[in-house]
Amino acid sequence: MIIDLKTVLLAPRRFEFSIEPGWWQGDRENDQIIGLGGPLKVEINIAKAGSKYVLDGRLSGRLLIRCDRCLEHYESDLESDFRLFLALIPSDTGQSELELLEDDMAVDFTSGNEIDLEEVVRSQIFLSLPLKCLCREDCLGLCPVCGSNLNIETCECQREMGHPAFLKMKNLKFKGESE
Ligand SMILES: [Zn+2]
Ligand SMILES: [Zn+2]
Repeated sequence: MIIDLKTVLLAPRRFEFSIEPGWWQGDRENDQIIGLGGPLKVEINIAKAGSKYVLDGRLSGRLLIRCDRCLEHYESDLESDFRLFLALIPSDTGQSELELLEDDMAVDFTSGNEIDLEEVVRSQIFLSLPLKCLCREDCLGLCPVCGSNLNIETCECQREMGHPAFLKMKNLKFKGESE
């Protein structure tokens, strides 16, 4: 959804729309976000404030995410409020270019006087992710040896790590370190 910012010069504009789950396209195969778990509700207000444009937005929906530890997919609520400041910066070509101020992510959703609200939404979805995405707080992850998902199965390697011989070795190492 491309918005011409000239249309908000006189009065703020409010946009409300819903994005269908099929909209999300992962960039790479190992993206953390698999897709949307349902329609995503988007509300965005755009207003001119001095020389800047202010975007106030809210996203609500569900995301399909890949767990960082066990790599299984899980659903998570997405409730995100955000505020962006944009400014028109004169470019080399003599025309003005919109630029995101205080950006913590290089996002290209503007050209000239226009802004692509779907790109704004996409970047905000990425920013809403926690540092670590876990299907549950105590996710056991994958066995580093055989790759089994330890949330659903116990593998032989686990048993070996609990083997008396292995524990003895650990004790020896501990003794050596403390001396
Ligand atoms: Zn997990
Ligand atoms: Zn294993």
